[in-house]
Amino acid sequence: MKKIAFKTLGCRLNQYETDALASRFHSGSYEIVDFSQPADIYVVNTCTVTNQSDQKSRQTINQARRQNQQAVVVVTGCMANNYKESLLESKAINFVVDNERKTSIFGLVEKHFRGEVADPEGFDHDVFSYEAAYKTFHTRSMIKIQDGCDNFCTFCIIPKVRGRAASRPAAEIYRNIAEVVEHGFKEVVLTGVNIGRYDDNGTNFEQLIEGILNLPGDFRLRISSIEPDGFTERFFELFSHPKLTPHLHLCLQSGAESILLRMRRMYTARQFRQMALKLRELYPDFNLTTDIIVGFPGETEAEFEATTNLAKELNFSHIHTFKYSVRSGTRAERMPDQLSEKVKNHRSEVIRKISEANKAAYYSAMIGKTQRLLIERIGNDGVARGYGESYIPIRIKAKNLKRNQFAEVILTGLHQGKELEMTAELVITDRSGGSNN
Ligand code: SF4
Repeated sequence: MKKIAFKTLGCRLNQYETDALASRFHSGSYEIVDFSQPADIYVVNTCTVTNQSDQKSRQTINQARRQNQQAVVVVTGCMANNYKESLLESKAINFVVDNERKTSIFGLVEKHFRGEVADPEGFDHDVFSYEAAYKTFHTRSMIKIQDGCDNFCTFCIIPKVRGRAASRPAAEIYRNIAEVVEHGFKEVVLTGVNIGRYDDNGTNFEQLIEGILNLPGDFRLRISSIEPDGFTERFFELFSHPKLTPHLHLCLQSGAESILLRMRRMYTARQFRQMALKLRELYPDFNLTTDIIVGFPGETEAEFEATTNLAKELNFSHIHTFKYSVRSGTRAERMPDQLSEKVKNHRSEVIRKISEANKAAYYSAMIGKTQRLLIERIGNDGVARGYGESYIPIRIKAKNLKRNQFAEVILTGLHQGKELEMTAELVITDRSGGSNN
């Protein structure tokens, strides 16, 4: 049995694709081992969204080669699309497989070990034909619904490395979700590049969500990162459905109208604010998290202040902060007034502090409220951990609790460990569940 190891960098879309590949190799009688272990094959699913992600991707590729000089090293993901030529020259790498051919990696590796000529370019483009992922690295099941993007925000490299927007047939998505729920998954997370723009022959994003919510089974649905544009009234109403989790990661990027214009974003700060306030008006405990870029070319103190003011007012419980990173081939690369690392580090620190204060405030306001905890892991310390439907990390004493089980809990307080979590007490546990892989 050949040993294979996977490493995923970047977004949930990459995580979905790695889970599906790992599941395929597992059903093909390969042994999945941890990336730190010796393996016959290493698959590195890279990210190229910032300089830091490029760096981490390169370090991971070198780690694989260091661990086994004879291993087959397969590099795929967005960096494979962004730096294909230079990666093909690297002696550390056997195969460079772009995003469009990622589904073919199992066939490629099988060909290689049969001693046949294995050339990634010989496989078809296909961004959707992944098998349902059973053998995964996550308790929650990521489901890919869309790929690519047509927005071309001026700072973003993704349209170049993920191609034009494409939507997976709705029927396939329903089938995929029914399969993983049948297999025991309790939470389904929808992922893609610009999922709000989903369109399968007239079935739009809201209609797809509605179709999923009508599927049988005791599962809940989470929407992963989404662009804040094109929402209809129906979208806001959907969150009254008990299966749809009351949390959105809504990408703001900046609170300054002038910056959003230079970023070529599809909404204004005023519209974003209205969306957020509407969600809170309809669902007072609704959890909003976001992405913010600091140090975009030309960002003045006043523009940065507009961002910090909005971040405080909207009380995002978590802000994923990106220091603006020049991406070759994007419009922002040619913009004047590129800011220094010093300024970016300072502004990143300011946002990080706001995020921490917001998180403590939101969690404190949730004390005494109930959550349906999905247990993801149980530590040797006898503490079970997981997330509630509001995407709050919860820790609880693990008496008779099992992984991948729902438990009704009441939130009791805050616990500052490596991350800020909430403590809770058990109300009831549901009898079904337990490990699904
Ligand atoms: S919406 Fe903008 S930021 Fe998001 S993937 Fe598309 S181009 Fe990039």
